[in-house]
Parts: sequence; structure tokens; C-alpha cells
Amino acid sequence: MRSRSIGFRLAAWYFLVFASGVAAFSIIAWFAMRASLYHATDEALEDRVRGVQSFMERQIASLSIPEIRDEFREHSVLGPGGDLFQVADAGGEWLYRSVPLENNNVAITLPAALASSRFETAPVQGHVLRFYSQRIVVHGKPYTVQVATTMDEAFEALERFRVMLLLASPLLLIAASAGGYWISSRALSPVDAISRAANRISIENLAERLNVPKTGDQLQRLSETLNAMLARLEASVRRMIQFTADASHELRAPVSLIRTTAEIAAMNRDRPATEYLTALDEIHEEAVRTSQVVDSLMLLARADSAKETLECIPVDAAAVVRSAAEQGERLARSRGVRFRLNLAAEPVPVQADPEALRRALLILMDNAAKYTPEGGSVEVGLEARNGQAVAWVSDTGMGIAAADLPHVFDRFWRADKARSREQGGAGLGLSIAKWIVDMHGGTISGQSEIGKGSVFEIKLTVEKG
Ligand code: ADP
Repeated sequence: MRSRSIGFRLAAWYFLVFASGVAAFSIIAWFAMRASLYHATDEALEDRVRGVQSFMERQIASLSIPEIRDEFREHSVLGPGGDLFQVADAGGEWLYRSVPLENNNVAITLPAALASSRFETAPVQGHVLRFYSQRIVVHGKPYTVQVATTMDEAFEALERFRVMLLLASPLLLIAASAGGYWISSRALSPVDAISRAANRISIENLAERLNVPKTGDQLQRLSETLNAMLARLEASVRRMIQFTADASHELRAPVSLIRTTAEIAAMNRDRPATEYLTALDEIHEEAVRTSQVVDSLMLLARADSAKETLECIPVDAAAVVRSAAEQGERLARSRGVRFRLNLAAEPVPVQADPEALRRALLILMDNAAKYTPEGGSVEVGLEARNGQAVAWVSDTGMGIAAADLPHVFDRFWRADKARSREQGGAGLGLSIAKWIVDMHGGTISGQSEIGKGSVFEIKLTVEKG
């Protein structure tokens, strides 16, 4: 439907442009034809005056006036334009006057008053006549010769030409518009095919792709662009499905733990109060953990839908690291892990959302403390290196296998599922940290050696000035 309307619009535009072209052409052609008819007529009139002049030069000395008249009469009816001409001398005496001009009393300008030769058009007895008056000098005496011809034929030819233009133009326009419509519909039919194919693709068959015509034109590019878009959509739908599945899986375990703990506690009612309290503690602990997972999921979901944004302001990265380290130190100490902070004295200015950056750093410190056995140590530092603020968190913990390292930033990814869950992790911390760092235009990376420890680094651009 849409392509039909584009085809119609194109044809309409084509019609408008073509119609203006035809109209302009017809007007110009009509005027050119008219000018050329006048030109041809005027040239013939000038020729006739030259003929009269040469006749007079030859005959005027030897003939009397009546003889000249006779000669003129004889001479003139033979030439083109018949005998429509008249000659007068300086005194206004008629040397010759053809009958129609005499009958209609057509005036002549005497040679003294005729400054230059002159063309005129005037109606005589329902005919349009073209007059040409010229002053000639024969044997020293001035005369005025006026010749005339009827424009009837010229006007008839012009009229025929006008009718032909008026008849031919609409036919031409109809043919051209029909042609224009046909061409545009033909050109747009592959677009129709593409939209039909695109219509068939839905969430169930996102893996399907459009046929790409190997034409090297816009249609090929359109199909390729749509296919690339489908690929992106397919990838993000896959991620979404995976995310939902992982999220439900992740929430099922704690919820069923809460349920079983509560059920067991409720089964035997004659328990000592301490057992109930222990069960309640377990339920509470699991509920806290679950709500943390739900919070993380919500944050990532909002990040995906671009609803969660950060507000970056100029801050001192050292101050943010110091504040995160205060909490990180408490976490480490509670797990029996030593904690050390290495901070340069001078401030490191960056553009950042301090709360979000603090959260990312805390995730790294929490992981370092979680995956480091008692007696180990965690070290946190910040330095400006090659125009970058580099914040690092290193530990002497269990480390990550080289094959696992590329996955640590994936959602729900955990190196050791059982142990990690025990430590309270759902595999979302590093994905959140990565999202935060990405939103800052920075980079996050990790290095690790199994059994020796890990180092995670966040790099942001240092603000100048
Ligand atoms: P979690 O909440 O499970 O810690 P993260 O996304 O923060 O999830 O980390 C993903 C996984 O990467 C963890 O489950 C853990 O196996 C591994 N990991 C992260 N940091 C460290 C670290 N400092 N030392 C050892 N393993 C780590």
C-alpha cells in the first residue's frame, strides 16, 4: 500500500515536472514559429521592394508615367503577394497604386517624412496585412515604396500549430505519466518484496534473514541493513531470554531454601525457642541475600532499557577510592583478611558519578575479600598513569583460571558455583561494575593466577586543568 502511494507520488511529481516542461516548450515553440513566420514574410517584402527599385532604375528614364503604371501592373501580378503595392514620389504623386490599396485608401508616408524603412501590421477588410515602407532614390529622386502581403496563411499555419500543440500535449502528458507510474512501481516492487519478507519475521523466527539482491544498489544496502538489524535484535533477544532464565534460576534456590527452612521449623512445634531463632536467622539471611540479588537484577534491567543513567561531575578519584576503601577495609577485616590502601597525596581529577564509581570499587574489594582465604591480604590503590586514573584492587586469594578470566564480566557467571553462592555471590557483581565503568567511558580488566591472587583495574581519563 505504502509503495503504491510512493509510486503514485513519484508519478504525480513526474507529471508536474513534465507538464511544466511541455507547457514551457509549447509557449516557446509557438513564439519561435510566429517570429520565424514574420521573419520570412518581412524578407519577402524587402525582396519585393528591391525588385521595384531595380525595375524603376531600369525603366523610369525611358517610359512615361502611364507606361510605367502598365509595366508595374503587368510586373506585379506575377510576383508573390500579388499586386499589393504602391509607389509615391516626393510631391505625393502616385506613380502606381494597386487596386485593393487604392479602394481602401491605404495611406502612404511621403519620402521626406519616412526617416527609415518601416514594417507595420494592420487589418484591411477582415484580413491582416503586413506592410513594408521604404524610401528609395531613383536617378536622384526620392520615392516611397510600400509593399504589402496578407498574413492570412501565416496565421493559419500558426493556428494549426497551436491546435496541434494543444492536442498533442495532453496525450503526451498522459503517456508520460502512465510511463512514470509504471517505472516507479517497477522500481519499488523489490521494496514491496522486502517489506513482505520482513513482515513474516517475528520473535519466533528471528533467525530468518531477508534475501539480499546482489544488485549493488540501495536495495541491496537496505536488505543488508535490515539483516544486520535482525542479527542485533536476535542477539539481544537471546540475551534477554538467557537473562530471564538465569534470573529465575538464581532466585529459585534461595526462595526454596527459605521455604524449606520455614516448613521444617513449623513441622515439629515442640522445639526449643533457640531452634526457631536459628531458623529465623537463616531465613532472614537468605531473604537479605535474595533482596540483594533482586536489587542487582533491577539495576541491570534498568541499565538494559537505558533508564538507569549516571550523572558525571568533576570529582577527585582519590576521595572516591578512600571512601570505598573505608567500607572495603571493614569487609576484609570481618573475614580475617589484611587490608592496605596506597593513595598518592595529590588529587586525581576525573569526570565521574561518585556514588556509582564507589559502588564499582566496592564490588572489586568485596570480591577480593570474599575469594581470599583468612590470613591473606587485599591491597587497594590509585595512581595517575599516562593521562589515566588507574584504580586497582589486588588480592592474594584463590585466583581465576586463565580460561575463566574472559567470562568474569558475564552476567551470572561464577567460577565455582557452589562456593561462590556460599559466599553470597550471584555472579552479577562484575557485570554491574563493568556497566558502571562503561558508562564512564573507561575500561575495566582483570589479571589473575590460580592460587596466587588477582588484580582488577579500573581506568578512567584524567581531567586536565
Ligand atoms: P559474585 O557475586 O559471584 O562474586 P562477580 O560477578 O562479582 O559475582 O564475579 C564473578 C565470578 O568471578 C565470581 O563468582 C568468582 O568466581 C570470580 N571472581 C571475581 N573476583 C574474584 C577474585 N578477586 N578472586 C577470585 N575469583 C574472583
